[in-house]
Amino acid sequence: TNTELELVNVTASWDEGIGELFEKIKQENKADDPPNGDTGLFFTNLYVTPVLKNIGLYLEKGKMLAVAGSTGSGKSSLLMMILGELVPSEGKIRHSGRISFSPQTSWIMPGTIRDNILFGLAYDEYRYTSVIRACQLEEDLALLPEKDKAPLKEGGVTLSGGQRARIGLARAVYKDADLYLLDSPFTHLDIVTEKEIFERCLCKLMSSKTRVVVTSKLDHLKRADKVLLLHNGMCYFYGSFSDLQAQRPDFSSLLLGLEAYDNINAERRTSILTETLRRVSVDE
Ligand code: ATP
Repeated sequence: TNTELELVNVTASWDEGIGELFEKIKQENKADDPPNGDTGLFFTNLYVTPVLKNIGLYLEKGKMLAVAGSTGSGKSSLLMMILGELVPSEGKIRHSGRISFSPQTSWIMPGTIRDNILFGLAYDEYRYTSVIRACQLEEDLALLPEKDKAPLKEGGVTLSGGQRARIGLARAVYKDADLYLLDSPFTHLDIVTEKEIFERCLCKLMSSKTRVVVTSKLDHLKRADKVLLLHNGMCYFYGSFSDLQAQRPDFSSLLLGLEAYDNINAERRTSILTETLRRVSVDE
């Protein structure tokens, strides 16, 4: 098939490992302790709090999935699960090939800017220049006397939040992969830069790549091929943006009615999204 990523009724819990350990201890204690203690109840409660519940989706090769949702709804956990860091307790995940992952906050290693983008891969001038341009790093580098050979950390260049974010994105994009997982790549970027990078990098440079992007911008949700809306670890909606308007009219009219939504900062946007999802989840 042409499907690059598929999740079938996937449920996962972060504390499952700990939960299993406690289950074991509980079983062992049962052997010598008299029954009817309340330890069983305590451990059972610890055991069952899935961070993601019954999630299903598929993404074809070369398509973009935008993941949005309320605070703590499991957006990052979803990426960790695709990466294999969070193992589902139920359901199936299928994807083929190599993954490139960009975390919410990228780790900067001591070394030059170029080292931090290549991250151990061979330097390919054409690829490197394309990525630098698409991630809007050209101007930043032009201002440095040592350009991309400028050392970071330990007496070197101190990065702004936005520069750090763009280097993190450049690193993820430079790596050749089949599936790109980008966790909130636009944090700390101003509106204009964000728009440029979304266009040039995510839409153009990566146009043939399969992309999963955590973002709360309506503009991005509209441009993505598929949208996943998470609330409390559950799928509130999965489909195209036009399906969203048809299937979740209350949610859509509330959010689309907010003129300035896309132009306010990401933190406030997430609060609004959280509040909106709470309201419509209660209503429906
Ligand atoms: P935000 O909007 O704050 O970025 P999110 O939607 O990305 O949140 P997650 O970061 O996936 O949500 O968090 C969902 C739940 O999973 C939270 O309760 C969080 O504490 C927990 N969690 C996230 N990552 C881990 C981890 N690596 N280990 C253990 N628990 C985690």
